[in-house]
Amino acid sequence: MDVKDKLLKIELPGHAFYKEEMTGRTLTELEVKKLAALTHGDNIKGIVQLLNDAVSNDLFELYTDDFWYLMWWLRVQTFPSYPIVVPWTCKCGAENKSDLTADKLKYIDIPEEFNPLHAQVRLSNGELISIRPQKVKDEFDVDAYLKQRMIKDPDRSIKGVLLDLACLGEGKTIDDLYKSYKAGNFSTEDFFTIQGFKTLYTWGVNKIADFSCYKCKEGVSVEYEVTLTNFFPDILHREYLKQRILFNVPSTPTEEPVRDDGLQRV
Ligand SMILES: [Zn+2]
Repeated sequence: MDVKDKLLKIELPGHAFYKEEMTGRTLTELEVKKLAALTHGDNIKGIVQLLNDAVSNDLFELYTDDFWYLMWWLRVQTFPSYPIVVPWTCKCGAENKSDLTADKLKYIDIPEEFNPLHAQVRLSNGELISIRPQKVKDEFDVDAYLKQRMIKDPDRSIKGVLLDLACLGEGKTIDDLYKSYKAGNFSTEDFFTIQGFKTLYTWGVNKIADFSCYKCKEGVSVEYEVTLTNFFPDILHREYLKQRILFNVPSTPTEEPVRDDGLQRV
């Protein structure tokens, strides 16, 4: 059976927030090759577009926490033998490299009262405005907006503002929101509230794992960083590759073979 025909149901942590159920499949060899090229080119949007073909729903419309859950799903399903390796230094000074296997992943549940479809914040000017967690598309929409408007943003601070604004006012465009911001409708405190919302309402895979030091055996909670460009396995993961590559060594003959000339060598 072609890998493309084997669709599995994926239960996203935030599945209740989407209209449709998600199904997906493991990545094909061709896709993994394309993925490697996109990764080396640092083409994040290209990576998301490529992965979009492996799942039923539009990845750009996912909340980023569900997107990252899905990335883990794709990785573990496609490469079960190649865990992410987390380098960390123990208090005793030992340099560790620990395997982030599926059983090491920790999850944050969605707070019970939370529903992004009905969340609102009150702005300093008294206005109530809808708010939602960040979606995958926001990052790309904001980049496109900055480029289209030729807005110079060397320290990426305007991008940060636009990413916060993109979570507000269902149906409003980034342009609407930016104009409203320029007109002074959002206070510094409003941005603090938006960032607080983003921090309080997160879910999915928590980027902390419990490892123990190979040397002193002490248990440590280690925070790790993953990005789309270091997420999928690399050929440089040599230890794991070597476990899977076998060389069939012929068994040693017990007797000295008889040479063609019929004489035994001493
Ligand atoms: Zn140690």
